[in-house]
Amino acid sequence: MYDYDLLVVGSANADLVIGVERRPGAGETVLGSDLAVHPGGKGANQAVAAARLGARTALLARVGDDAHGRLLLQSQREAGVDTVGVLVGGAPTGVALITVDPSGDNSIVVSPGANGRLTPEDVSAAGCLFQSSRVVSAQLEIPLETVVEAVRSLAPESRFVLNPSPPRPLPQEVLAACDPLIVNEHEAKVILGGSAVGDTPEDWARILLAKGPKSVVVTLGAEGALVASAEGVARVPAVTVDAVDTTGAGDSFTAALACRLGAGASLAEAAAYAARVGAATVTKEGAQASFPTAAEVAAP
Ligand code: ADP
Repeated sequence: MYDYDLLVVGSANADLVIGVERRPGAGETVLGSDLAVHPGGKGANQAVAAARLGARTALLARVGDDAHGRLLLQSQREAGVDTVGVLVGGAPTGVALITVDPSGDNSIVVSPGANGRLTPEDVSAAGCLFQSSRVVSAQLEIPLETVVEAVRSLAPESRFVLNPSPPRPLPQEVLAACDPLIVNEHEAKVILGGSAVGDTPEDWARILLAKGPKSVVVTLGAEGALVASAEGVARVPAVTVDAVDTTGAGDSFTAALACRLGAGASLAEAAAYAARVGAATVTKEGAQASFPTAAEVAAP
């Protein structure tokens, strides 16, 4: 019996957003809107998305002993995430400084801060969380050696899901643990190291699968997704919606997929559900604020 459906090992950032008429060039200063501060970071986003869908969720992350860290802890707790694994201190909370112009184009500077101080030792010390979790998910906004230690800490029967974002080449040990590896087009190309990637998402999925993951999911934005495993490659139909803001769609998709897999769904079934969660996410502004509840996804 597991205590958690999903353990997310990953980042927590404060997103500091300022609207501007025009993004500044080198040496330039522009005036912008009032500052908006939102909880974000791929790990924190995935944990909130999973909890909102009703999964028993824990987050293993590190934040600073500061106001941004308290904001992140509060948003996790409000969503129902168990924050026993959120470590505090060692560096300021990670922040993303975001300027957005009226056309929606943005410029982003990320200071990883405490995310960069989430160490393999922190993972080892959280061994009981790993033993209590049916599925473990990770992303790459924390040190790669920390993700490697997470793979080594998996309980024998638990499943590992990785969204390698921001992408970088992965050690074989990590690739081989993924079930699935979840990538968009850009991430697929970086993981494949610019080698012959083929022309279609089906090609990327097959070549990625040959690199060792037990399964692969390629997300295709408004085009939906596709799944690949030893059983073959299959398209997941797109869900047609009026997109308002695509922020967080990849995070809620990954969280939903992980939760459904943990509940025993097949990869294709889980991806179809995740596509509905991703589609619901893009119909609202923001990241965590746009994640649907299970009831909202069930509604026609
Ligand atoms: P990422 O943000 O990681 O690049 P995607 O943009 O591919 O991820 O989005 C993840 C998933 O969310 C997609 O596979 C799709 O199922 C869903 N999704 C994203 N954008 C849309 C959209 N405009 N309309 C419908 N579904 C979408």
